[in-house]
Amino acid sequence: MYQITLATGNKHKVEEINLIAKEYDIEFVLPKGDFDPIEDGDNFIDNAICKAKCASLLGETDLYLADDSGLCVDSLGGEPGIYSARYAPSAPERIEKLLKNMQGIENRKAHFTCAMVICNKKQEVVFKTQQFCHGEIMTEQKGEGGFGYDPIFFVESEKMGMAELSAQRKAQVSHRAKSLNVVLKWLKDEIIK
Ligand code: IMP
Repeated sequence: MYQITLATGNKHKVEEINLIAKEYDIEFVLPKGDFDPIEDGDNFIDNAICKAKCASLLGETDLYLADDSGLCVDSLGGEPGIYSARYAPSAPERIEKLLKNMQGIENRKAHFTCAMVICNKKQEVVFKTQQFCHGEIMTEQKGEGGFGYDPIFFVESEKMGMAELSAQRKAQVSHRAKSLNVVLKWLKDEIIK
């Protein structure tokens, strides 16, 4: 199994990503110890570059994958966007704040974005991509699955809430799944062969 360090401290992310990567003989592993790099980019790709470069300093594997993701709401000018994780202190508070900010707004169109960047041991960016999952912000929470903003996100292609999808289905249709499939194809064509 080819191991790649996933530059995150988020256990949910590594689980979701490994579910998608299973078929490729690739295993993503968390950095050893706490990993909490400063994200000071002003877009998803720059933040993913920050995280991938920071993880690559650990020198634990040949390649380092970082993702940066978030929810962008059209009528809020793309907010919370790169600030999705910091919009409010906890996931329930973030949902509550977003629903409050959306009160009375008719256009509820939104999309999740996921940028992915791969760095090598020399802190060089060797691959990057950014993909989306389109939908709408619901007026109330639905479903028990997923994490973060999933309970209020209606997935356009599935005609149901993200938190109502099975983990397997989310792993096929999410922004992270789409970016990861592009990454896995590149790894298969260029690295693992
Ligand atoms: P990141 O760890 O900097 O990429 O933070 C992304 C934040 O965006 C997360 O903490 C969530 O709040 C939100 N987010 C990203 N992907 C998802 C998802 O698949 N479902 C729900 N929320 C997500």
